[in-house]
Amino acid sequence: MSYMITDETKLIGIIGTPIKQSFSPKIHNRAFQYLNLNYIYIPFDVLQQDLPKAVEAMKSLSFRGFNVTMPHKREIMAYLDEVSEDARIIGAVNTVVNQNGKLVGYNTDGKGYVQSLEDEGIYVKDRTFVIAGAGGAARSVAVQLALDGAKKITILNRTIEKAHDIAQVIGKSIPNVHIEVNCLENKILAKTVEEADVLIHSTSLGMYSMRERSIIEDERILPSNLVVSDLIYNPAKTKLLQQAENRGCKTINGLGMLIGQAAIAFELWTEVAMPIGYIKSTVFMDEDEV
Ligand code: NAP
Repeated sequence: MSYMITDETKLIGIIGTPIKQSFSPKIHNRAFQYLNLNYIYIPFDVLQQDLPKAVEAMKSLSFRGFNVTMPHKREIMAYLDEVSEDARIIGAVNTVVNQNGKLVGYNTDGKGYVQSLEDEGIYVKDRTFVIAGAGGAARSVAVQLALDGAKKITILNRTIEKAHDIAQVIGKSIPNVHIEVNCLENKILAKTVEEADVLIHSTSLGMYSMRERSIIEDERILPSNLVVSDLIYNPAKTKLLQQAENRGCKTINGLGMLIGQAAIAFELWTEVAMPIGYIKSTVFMDEDEV
């Protein structure tokens, strides 16, 4: 990949640590190049204690914006001039836009997820969801589902306090949605998926380092009309998605969310739509996995 960097090249960054494994530079730089946009996206490994200096540097160097990833998604909020309503409810920011020196924070994870569902013909309004997991990804997704009019969301997690925490945040800001929480146990999961439209998996079980694992012991608990959505994109077909496929369920992996959250950020910075089809078909081309 070659770039012609000029004095007009607009700068975008991503800050986090570790940053080496991020797919974002590849996604955005490919899209800039494809559309012939004079932008460049640069990864920066920023330690927790260096966050304020890194934000100041971004401002001084007139970055158009940047992504924020672990472990800075919450702490970054203290250094921004403004935060969008959904990011405020979620309590985390993954995208910052520099509007002539004013830093505005957004969270595109939940919106990117909902967009990926809609791309598969699944609409949130009045649907019933079960979310397995209550980490950062689950929180963004749950808040967006609630904002978009989900009828009921049940959050199941190994550490139930974290599920309660998300339910409380949603209950305070978006009172119309019915939220339940429980432990992530097979009997409870079996009961809750019986009456759900979509099961969303957002734990780390099944990721490349734990690819033999699944939240489900016996796949017969999955009704064939259930949509099973796994936020994991590497591997592309997790054990859970294989179990769901065996039962005849519609399955969706996390690639759509990964590209969806990037596409929303891309448009916030450039005001141009990301070429999603092209990015989806090329981003993992030179990877061993997926
Ligand atoms: P996180 O904040 O670290 O949360 C991890 C979640 O996994 C927690 O609910 C945790 O439960 C659960 N968990 C971990 N080990 C477990 C085990 N052995 N048994 C049961 N539950 C376990 O991580 P995150 O950022 O939310 O990410 C969660 C998943 O979403 C990951 O697989 C990640 O790859 C995926 N993700 C995808 C995208 C995308 O764009 N597609 C974006 C972000 C994340 P406890 O609370 O009990 O520890």
